[in-house]
Amino acid sequence: NGRSPLLVCLISRARHSAAMRYLKPLVPKEELAFGKYFTDHMLVMRWTEKDGWGKPEIKPYGPFSLDPASLVLHYSLECFEGMKAYRKSEDEVVLFRPEMNMARLNRSAGRLMLPGFDSELVLEAIKELVRLDSRWIYNEKGYSLYIRPNMIGTEASPPTLNLTNSREVILYVICAPVGPYFANAITLLANTEEVRAWPGGVGSQKIGGNYGPCIKPAVVAKVKGADQVLWLLGDDHKITEAGTMNFMVYWVNEDGERELITAPLDGTILPGITRDSLLHLMREWNEFKVTEREFTMGELIKAQQDNRVLECFGCGTACIVSPVKAIIYKDQTYNIPVDPDDETAQYGPLARRLHHELFSIQYAESDKHRDWTP
Ligand code: PMP
Repeated sequence: NGRSPLLVCLISRARHSAAMRYLKPLVPKEELAFGKYFTDHMLVMRWTEKDGWGKPEIKPYGPFSLDPASLVLHYSLECFEGMKAYRKSEDEVVLFRPEMNMARLNRSAGRLMLPGFDSELVLEAIKELVRLDSRWIYNEKGYSLYIRPNMIGTEASPPTLNLTNSREVILYVICAPVGPYFANAITLLANTEEVRAWPGGVGSQKIGGNYGPCIKPAVVAKVKGADQVLWLLGDDHKITEAGTMNFMVYWVNEDGERELITAPLDGTILPGITRDSLLHLMREWNEFKVTEREFTMGELIKAQQDNRVLECFGCGTACIVSPVKAIIYKDQTYNIPVDPDDETAQYGPLARRLHHELFSIQYAESDKHRDWTP
């Protein structure tokens, strides 16, 4: 199947020796929480400017030893991905559009002057890692394996902590079993003080430096009674993203048309793979207008006051869709309808339908988009 003989050899050696020695006890499935437990193995690939990429190696999960002067520890030369593997049947596991995660990781790496890598080779190695640790994907609908590829610049910056590109890099991949995501509709705090990303910045890259500074606003949002931050941009308070999700509004627009609207990929938005997939599905349905354009808090509030907002939701790999029931903006709470026909519903009709359709594709139950779970 095109895999290099050396890779096969490395991996099968890992499978036979390491796998026998390093199996952890499985965690009872009720105890799973996002990123709380990791599987038995990890994938590691090292690069140096002098020798280029080494071969991918699968080893027991465990710590690295890093020089305290390593560039990643000072200047955040780090980028990552988040993707999932799903159990299609007793003995078959699938990934969802993984080539998009590889492409996004290569783009993020490029922005940090970390080296590009062969997406197909790394993906093949990730599949082998997932096969090896697949006992961690519980054979029950809703369970999956969260896969976290990571690239770090490990050169100990010579000789005086210079701000420079790293001539030594580690690409590694760890995996965490996750359980079903039962979402309750959430409240967002629209942040008018801090921004997540800005024109000319790096908001469209999945780099560690974008995430650390978002923790404090997220904690403040919780203290103020919200679940996550609604990230705004500019004096006109353009709506960009929600927490670590893309954000979508389904409304009746000023022209009286039903429309799904989300911010465009203008460099300030993380190009989510869920976002792309949902836009794709809705355009295939061809039942309402689907628009990627800038839109503001002012427009959303006006629509809410005119009772034109049908649903709002975040979207991302973890939750697929996360319906929003309220937005706090300038100390005022704006309620968003979840389901007009059912006061207790946590998902509106569109969010429910999108969730169901994508979920069926991810578990390869649907005949649609088989190409998304290769
Ligand atoms: N926006 C941000 C800022 C994110 O970190 C993520 C998670 N990767 C997303 C959106 C959703 O992206 P995806 O659908 O690829 O998970």
